[in-house]
Amino acid sequence: MAFEELLEDPVIQKYLNVLVGPKGMPVAAAPPDGEVTDEELAERLGLELNDVRRALFILYENDLASYRRVRDEDSGWLTYLWTFEYEHIPGNLHEEMERLLQALEQRRQYERDNEFYLCGNCSIRFEFDEAMDLGFQCPECGGELEAMGNEELIEAIDERIDELRDELGIVA
Ligand SMILES: [Zn+2]
Repeated sequence: MAFEELLEDPVIQKYLNVLVGPKGMPVAAAPPDGEVTDEELAERLGLELNDVRRALFILYENDLASYRRVRDEDSGWLTYLWTFEYEHIPGNLHEEMERLLQALEQRRQYERDNEFYLCGNCSIRFEFDEAMDLGFQCPECGGELEAMGNEELIEAIDERIDELRDELGIVA
């Protein structure tokens, strides 16, 4: 598995960046071959040990790194030997896209099932029931709430859903 090729993919770069943040990115972007300690990584990359540990832990939580503990026979200290497991990245991304797709489908349903009212002054949107309870008056500014179409929003959601289905290889 060539990690270098994975890391050239802008989608994967973005995914890692969102996971570990800019401070952790040097760690995430330079997966070593084989095992490595946090201290070796910090030294090699010129980073604070805490930033390296934080990034490693996030990768671990996301199934992208694992460790084993080794006790030094002389000092008695525990050393953590880390292995990067980037072969799990494609599977993680796939799951993430599936979650996003589900969320978008739920959102679309919600948009379709409800009527909305807007205060033009405050740009606050209310569901029909809320607006009726308020006597169609904005609770912030007292302005009149007006019916608001959401067709454009639904269309945008539809487009995003189609794109995701394409990427996931789901036939509509
Ligand atoms: Zn208002």
